[in-house]
Amino acid sequence: MSLFGAMRLPRSVLFGSGQRQALAGVAEQFGHRVLICTDPRLGSDQEIQALIGNLGRRGLSALLYDQTQPDLPIDSIMDCVRAAASFTPDVVIGIGGGSCMDMAKAAAVLLTHGGEPSSYYGEYKVPGPVIPVIAVPTTSGTGSEVTPVAVVADTAKGMKIGIASPHIIPQVAVCDPELTLSCPPRLTACSGGDALTHAIESFTALARTPSADLTLQHVFIGKNALSDHFALLAISSIWNSLYPAYINGNDLQARENLMMGSLAAGCAFGTAGTAAAHAIQYPVGNATHTAHGDGVASLLPYVMEFNRPACVDNFAQIARMLRLGDGNSSNDDLSRILIDEVAGLLGSVGIPRTLKDLGLAADQQQWTAESAISIQRLVKNNPRPLDLRAMQAITAAAYS
Ligand code: NAD
Repeated sequence: MSLFGAMRLPRSVLFGSGQRQALAGVAEQFGHRVLICTDPRLGSDQEIQALIGNLGRRGLSALLYDQTQPDLPIDSIMDCVRAAASFTPDVVIGIGGGSCMDMAKAAAVLLTHGGEPSSYYGEYKVPGPVIPVIAVPTTSGTGSEVTPVAVVADTAKGMKIGIASPHIIPQVAVCDPELTLSCPPRLTACSGGDALTHAIESFTALARTPSADLTLQHVFIGKNALSDHFALLAISSIWNSLYPAYINGNDLQARENLMMGSLAAGCAFGTAGTAAAHAIQYPVGNATHTAHGDGVASLLPYVMEFNRPACVDNFAQIARMLRLGDGNSSNDDLSRILIDEVAGLLGSVGIPRTLKDLGLAADQQQWTAESAISIQRLVKNNPRPLDLRAMQAITAAAYS
């Protein structure tokens, strides 16, 4: 088969301990009026305040919005947009976890094009370029710093939904692992589990037929030779760093590897997309109000088990890279070993083992399967065909 590769990425990515000090110089390239989107906890963090102080010392005019709410309810977005409308920023900086980076993307869309978040739900609804976004992650998980997605919670509809457009890929990602040293173990675990799920789902996603018209055809281009390299880099980086970072939050080497893994996973799934674990998490997250990362990571081993017949070779390739099994292990053996090891790693950092542990009620299983199958973008990207019966089977297996 001939090689095909395609990626959509930020213009620049800075990665490394201490790189946050470059933020003011980076922001300056886009203008003088800077909107900063963060949340109450990070807004009062000395490290973040120092970064904001650097902007002022460089002569930039900064407006701080520090009321971003977790999971990004649309009320929170409208509140930010009202606060910033008369400020007319040249650039928006999102500093924080996925919620704050997605806030920066959503605010940039609304401040540029007007309307409400619902005007942009789904793919390709953003009509053109937006105010440039700089993303500064403080968790190692979502990969939002490089993806074309902002996930928002539509509280009236009781659902989380994505705004997906190449126009909202941040212009610059500034990734400084030192900013994650303050993540407590639970946050490290669920955001790291999110990153591992992105990496594995993007590596096993369906490849699309290359087309001469890719830029218009898909927000997610599809799994390809380049996204696979990012996915494998992500899996190997996360594999050896998640548990050490969970056990000892001050282990900077582990924090660096984990952030490299989450960045690479974001590059992979921002191009290849995700699949069944994400489709099932959306209703589960709505029903249980549990963290996105806990949900997708709880589901990952069950989804891998379902997908195994279609993924034996891909799973074996991952297992060999991780030096699992021995020289005599067949691809079939390695695919089973990988699933057990993934479940073991996620269990070792306290990811809930079942949907029941996540708080899903027994009588919500059918609704969960029906809701998940309706998310066709993710369903169609799954390596093994999914219908309602398949969704019911995965949900039942993951329940207890
Ligand atoms: P988060 O942004 O919701 O933050 C969770 C909590 O962690 C907050 O209280 C925050 O203050 C705290 N926190 C963040 N950084 C910290 C640090 N360094 N030290 C201590 N506390 C810190 O969490 P998240 O898991 O990063 O993001 C989840 C959100 O991202 C969800 O809304 C999810 O749907 C979305 N998401 C987006 C994408 C994307 O591509 N845009 C991908 C996956 C998930």
